[in-house]
Amino acid sequence: MFANVCPECQEGKVFRSFLFVNKKCSHCGYRFEKEEGYFFGPMTVAYILMSFIAIPIFVILAFSEGVNFLTAFYFMIAGVVVIGPIIYRYSKLGWLQLETRFEKTQDAERKRADQIVKDRQGK
Ligand SMILES: [Zn+2]
Repeated sequence: MFANVCPECQEGKVFRSFLFVNKKCSHCGYRFEKEEGYFFGPMTVAYILMSFIAIPIFVILAFSEGVNFLTAFYFMIAGVVVIGPIIYRYSKLGWLQLETRFEKTQDAERKRADQIVKDRQGK
């Protein structure tokens, strides 16, 4: 689910570098970023996850003996800078996979519904 491959064909790469997503799949042409702000959802998820990691780091360090608040703060920022991009990357990949699966399920249901209508009309 978190592999850097196209959710549609499992061949093309989603990311062209560590943080930048290709516009579409080089293998099948599947569009990764469907509209402006498409990845706002995974950004929010990454932000929430970062808060769950960064705040405990700060609190634990800030209340440790021999560590002052400023040092704890610097460690927290360093943690965000190092871990943030990794979380961001994987939340984008996860988002894309989930969305594609959801689209496929919707397509299958639409086809099934169309078939039922056709059957009832006796075609
Ligand atoms: Zn593809």
